[in-house]
Amino acid sequence: MNQPPRGIPRVALPDEAGLQTRAIREGLPASPWGENSEALYLTSCFTHPDAATAARRFANEEDAFIYSRFSNPSVTILERRLAALEGTEACIATSSGMGAILLLFMSLLKAGDHVVCSQSVFGSTIKLLQSELGKFGVESSFVSQTDVSAWKAAIRPSTRLLFAETPTNPMTEVCDIQALADLAHNAGALLVVDNCLCSPALQQPVKFGADIVMHSGTKFLDGQGRVIAGALCASEQLVTEKFVPFMRSAGVNLSPFNAWVVAKGLETLSLRVKAQSEQALALARWLEQHPAVARVLHPGLPSHPQHALAMRQQNGQGGAVVTFDVKGGREEAFSVIDATQLCSIAANFGDVRSIITHPASTTHGRLTEAQRQAAGIGQGMIRLGVGLEDLADIQADLARGLDLLAA
Ligand SMILES: *Cc1c(COP(=O)(O)O)cnc(C)c1O
Repeated sequence: MNQPPRGIPRVALPDEAGLQTRAIREGLPASPWGENSEALYLTSCFTHPDAATAARRFANEEDAFIYSRFSNPSVTILERRLAALEGTEACIATSSGMGAILLLFMSLLKAGDHVVCSQSVFGSTIKLLQSELGKFGVESSFVSQTDVSAWKAAIRPSTRLLFAETPTNPMTEVCDIQALADLAHNAGALLVVDNCLCSPALQQPVKFGADIVMHSGTKFLDGQGRVIAGALCASEQLVTEKFVPFMRSAGVNLSPFNAWVVAKGLETLSLRVKAQSEQALALARWLEQHPAVARVLHPGLPSHPQHALAMRQQNGQGGAVVTFDVKGGREEAFSVIDATQLCSIAANFGDVRSIITHPASTTHGRLTEAQRQAAGIGQGMIRLGVGLEDLADIQADLARGLDLLAA
């Protein structure tokens, strides 16, 4: 696990313990007080019995909690749970999803290195790679999410990382993780998968060969829209040799409070995401029939271009994000959004509250029109992060504006 790895005791769990058991029981043994639910360790530093012990611990000769920029019990509990759910040896939690991507790039790349990235990933990911990392001489190519030959053609001798998000936000384009992993490994590079849209409840990218799984804990992992958080799940070696040293110097650490919230969220992750995914599919089917809707994107629909692949990779589930184009443009999309009374108009998903978003003017507003067009994000597009309210109520909320457009 993340620092400090070996000396910190583990919870005794049966070897055969399943994922739901691990989501609830993984972490750290209870404190001497025997609390049943995890304690929240709000402390900036930790004490040592004597000066010599402190010296050994600072020299990494003995594992212990030292300072909460390096590690903290509440953060370790989250990291162990998330690693168990993703099926990786280790995990490092970060202050946000973008903090996780920054940590990834800064710890694995140097000037002259090259990254191949899907052109349809999260808007801030593109900005970070192109504008910020670009300033330091990191080169990047952006390719079609679904065209494996385009990924292959973009690989150079200096390529260190392939970065994919699947399904993408908001287009729900699904890439073939195994095919990209094979490409990366043949080129001596690593495949990183942003698993925000599925969460490990639906998809475990390492099963298909991915080397690093990136998370925004802000989405389904928290699941109730409370905190910003992020994480990278990977091998023990990558975490301890690459990510932890950068973290110790750079401080993109997750606060113990936010870690505690997300760790509690993981306990119900699987139940929530499966229920939200089923509601999303029902809404997608209904939207497909609506006369005011031009197109519906949800990997669970047979009409989705990568439906079969998605069902294989995502445990037979489409996920809880539905994207659709209304007939018309920005004006029509805004009218549907503004007619809602229940859905939150916000830029998030993964919450138990349904959230409605106009990607072109919010989450993807910083991209150029050409970049948006390349990614397929038009002005008539609406993204719905489907929550856990009654399905009939969410449907009625969308129908308010859509029925007016169709009339
Ligand atoms: C939200 C999101 C991020 C960034 O996460 P933050 O926690 O907001 O920093 C990255 N990738 C995807 C797919 C996201 O949805």
